[in-house]
Amino acid sequence: MAEFTGNPTYRRKMIPAELGLLTSEDLFHHSFGCAAIGMALVSLDGRFLMVNTTLCNLIGFTDDELVGRHYGEFSYPDDLEIDLQLQKQTLLGDRRSFQLEKRYVHQDGSLIWGILSVSLVRDLEGAPLYFVSQFQDITERKRIEQKLEESRLRYLSLLKHNPDIICTLDETGKLVTINPATRRITGYTKQELIGKTLLPIVMPEQWQQVKNMFFQAQQGLIGHAEIQVIHKQGHLLILEVSVVPMIIHNQASGIYVIAKDITKRKRNEVMIDELHTKNQLILNAVSDGIFGIDEQLGTIFWNEAAKRLTGYTYDEMVGKNPFLILTQACEAEQSMGLTSQLPLYRSMLEGAHDYDSNEIFYKKNGDPFPVEYMSSPIYDHGRIVGVVITFKDIKERQKTEEMLRKSDKLSVVGQIAAGVAHEIRNPLTSLKGFTQFLQSGAVNKKEYYEIMLSELNRIELIITEMLVLAKPQMVNFQPKSLEMILNSVVILLETQANMSNIQFTMGIQEDLARVLCEENQLKQSFINLIKNAMEAMQDGGQIDIVLRAEGSRHVQIVIKDQGEGMPEDVLARLGEPFYTTKDKGTGLGIMITNKIIEDHNGHLLVESKEGEGTVVSVTLPVHQ
Ligand code: ADP
Ligand code: MG
Repeated sequence: MAEFTGNPTYRRKMIPAELGLLTSEDLFHHSFGCAAIGMALVSLDGRFLMVNTTLCNLIGFTDDELVGRHYGEFSYPDDLEIDLQLQKQTLLGDRRSFQLEKRYVHQDGSLIWGILSVSLVRDLEGAPLYFVSQFQDITERKRIEQKLEESRLRYLSLLKHNPDIICTLDETGKLVTINPATRRITGYTKQELIGKTLLPIVMPEQWQQVKNMFFQAQQGLIGHAEIQVIHKQGHLLILEVSVVPMIIHNQASGIYVIAKDITKRKRNEVMIDELHTKNQLILNAVSDGIFGIDEQLGTIFWNEAAKRLTGYTYDEMVGKNPFLILTQACEAEQSMGLTSQLPLYRSMLEGAHDYDSNEIFYKKNGDPFPVEYMSSPIYDHGRIVGVVITFKDIKERQKTEEMLRKSDKLSVVGQIAAGVAHEIRNPLTSLKGFTQFLQSGAVNKKEYYEIMLSELNRIELIITEMLVLAKPQMVNFQPKSLEMILNSVVILLETQANMSNIQFTMGIQEDLARVLCEENQLKQSFINLIKNAMEAMQDGGQIDIVLRAEGSRHVQIVIKDQGEGMPEDVLARLGEPFYTTKDKGTGLGIMITNKIIEDHNGHLLVESKEGEGTVVSVTLPVHQ
């Protein structure tokens, strides 16, 4: 009979009476077969000789499946090597027994963790017989241990990689742990911080606040505040700090301080505020109305001038489409696409910088006023997110222009009046002479009357032209023949030309289409141009006036003189109001002419060579 290699003293002890009735088989059955711990007898070469039910249940194989097989077949390969080695050492007598944590592979593939205790049974001579191994399942404990380890690692990595300061304080407020971000943000080393309070690095005026937060946390309350902290290098940091009680087993046992560095954000906020204020100042300082609209066409800003010019306040416009309000257009018009050609929409859709000099806005009180406005897209990262519109009330300017036009016209009238008066005096003298003749009963009456009539006609013509020019401007566009207009202008100026020894030649193409125009305005512009030509020829000469078709859609009037011409600097400044080289000039003629031609959708071109003369061409669209 084999014996256990246990403590030999046990063998000498008496078997208690209650067990006396049991056979050794019963004993074995109870202590091995029914043991709550997995047990096996294992041959010296590692095969299972006998296994108990607990072990079978633990690793999911039946008695039959296990007995006769090597335990290595059921062990987790990583754990096998050490098991085999310990077994070998035991066999060699280096140790009497061994214990290790190992895993078996359950029949379903899962791993079963256990503590394996193995001892060697020898016969009386000490020759090894078999191993007795016990296997205690610790899978559940291992699982919990692993979970704990995982959560510990998670916590550590959270601390380590968190960009914010996370530190713990003990009940007296001294730092116990800090994470790497704490060092990075404050510039202090671990040694400089651990075991001290945070106060030395906080701005003194906030000490009380920090202390209060700490005391509150000790009462279990979480506190938040913006705290100014001094970096080791001396500069100021703004931290968004949370102080959180650390509750373990329902007891506050320390404090977490979590802090985010918001210095940059704060600085940006201040900068944005300043920028905003500056923008607002600029927006409100300019005299032009400025407003912005977003992609939904709602007002996003509205400056003081816009308010002054329209009477609407920002509050009244915010979120609304200012354009519909200012032009009194209705949504229907907009949705029908009638307004899609507006600069505003072109800026929004195509990114165009557009301009409109001919729009009417309505004030809050209903008064209309003429405006000129610019619209430009607002970009954000390359995308159009809105439109900004700058507008001007041009009523005053229009008035000034009108006044200038009138004043120039009056001066032209004044200048020609002298020539005209001279011219009228001649026929009047002859009329007077003939009347005296007739009075004295002279003969050849018919011939006299004819001459008198023609003189009277001439006077009438001149007077009519004078009246036409003196009439107030009424913008009334009508199709007119340019030939007729040019002829009447030439008649008006001829007398003065004669006095200056200037001849006109007229080259007029026949049957030209008519031009949609305001006759008086066109007359005035031709008078201005021809008078300039005359004034450039102090010694007299010839002025060629040509009227011809220019393509199928335009007509052109060319006035060519043989005058002194213009040097380049004069040519460059042509059209500037009040720019004149003449003693009695107004410097308004070209400007007004240009404006009139533009109003007629035409074009004025001046070419000149000093000492040779000037060619002025006016191109106008024909009336279709
Ligand atoms: P003003 O005739 O009152 O000087 P304008 O605007 O008509 O004003 O002309 C401006 C200037 O342009 C003139 O002073 C003159 O120097 C120059 N100029 C205009 N037309 C001619 C021309 N045909 N030949 C030479 N100079 C001209
Ligand atoms: Mg002039």
